[in-house]
Amino acid sequence: MNEIYLDNAATTRPYSEVCDVMMEIFQNNFGNTSSLHKRGVAAERQVAMAKQQIRQLIGTSDWDMLFTSGGTEANNLAIRTCCPRGKRNHLIVSQVEHASVIDTAGLLVTQGCNLDVVSGGPSGVVSPNDFAKSVCKQTALVSVIHIANEMGTVQPVNEIAQAVKRLAPRVKIHVDATQAAAQLPRLDYCKEVDMVTISGHKIHGPQGIGALLFRTGSAIKPLFCGGDQQRGMRPGTLNLPGIVGLGEAARITVQMRQEAVVAMQHRMDAFREQIIGDDIYQLGDNHYRAAGMLVIGIRNINSEVLLHTLEKYNVLASAGSACHATRAKPPKCVVDAGLKSGDGVVRFSIEYQTSKEALRQAANILKTAILEVRQGRAGI
Ligand code: PMP
Repeated sequence: MNEIYLDNAATTRPYSEVCDVMMEIFQNNFGNTSSLHKRGVAAERQVAMAKQQIRQLIGTSDWDMLFTSGGTEANNLAIRTCCPRGKRNHLIVSQVEHASVIDTAGLLVTQGCNLDVVSGGPSGVVSPNDFAKSVCKQTALVSVIHIANEMGTVQPVNEIAQAVKRLAPRVKIHVDATQAAAQLPRLDYCKEVDMVTISGHKIHGPQGIGALLFRTGSAIKPLFCGGDQQRGMRPGTLNLPGIVGLGEAARITVQMRQEAVVAMQHRMDAFREQIIGDDIYQLGDNHYRAAGMLVIGIRNINSEVLLHTLEKYNVLASAGSACHATRAKPPKCVVDAGLKSGDGVVRFSIEYQTSKEALRQAANILKTAILEVRQGRAGI
């Protein structure tokens, strides 16, 4: 049986066009953007084009950006730039953030910052009001994820930004759009938000490249020292193949996102209908579910054994964030959303090409695999 890949929140297959443009750089158009000769100039031109494509992805036509090694680094850059800011040493994040936000915020606490963490509760959706309630004079930064990678829920980021800025216009708002870039029909951050994180490998681009976008003129505090590349704010030779690949992935995603999101929504709705029942419950409010994601709790089962049993039938899914795949306990946001002790959790995440038929097969396989695990027949 063909592989049914339902782990697109962990990483996506690169578009073939992305592979082509990267191969062209590797084989013919390699260059260092810092070189003064023609290869350097050509590389600069390629980077400028990628920047335009990336700005269109998030709807911020005149923003600046720094290329990073991925979403993790971009999130670190954003948070460490904004907090502490002199005496303003308070930050607010949500409980549904990626580890690169939660853990960085936790690190800042050990260095004297104050942190409020807003829960997503049973819905897996944070409330703008809860953010507003946590704002104080010392607040320097609010960091919020747009689509929660563990829960698959869409967060009201623009409403949160508005609620916070109404009270404290100087607070910087950072949005982690890593999962959102290919899962929402359109992104438009230019009004309320100050910084945005994206990552190549979640939008059918390459792994190991991402970007932090921000309002032109903002100063970003570097995470490490080196050369003058990217104005010293993120030194090191630019990853030209990665940047060009990311730009191409952004271009194609912008072109097809609207249609792809509608298709994913329909297919995931049908899959959900096929699997939710007495034994299987959805985690997070379905109304706020991202088009291509579904996170379920399964009564009385070990997630890891179930995932390996699914794999035996060529269905690949995960129990949540790939960045935490080795942890024993489920993340707090999943427990807040109602995962019962002893129950297993599985995250299914599809892409624009995942067919209805593949999902129908996966639904049947899931039922078979659960039975096998329960009867101790999994054989793994
Ligand atoms: N933020 C979110 C929401 C993510 O899902 C991920 C990847 N799991 C990251 C950040 C980190 O991105 P990267 O893998 O590019 O470091």
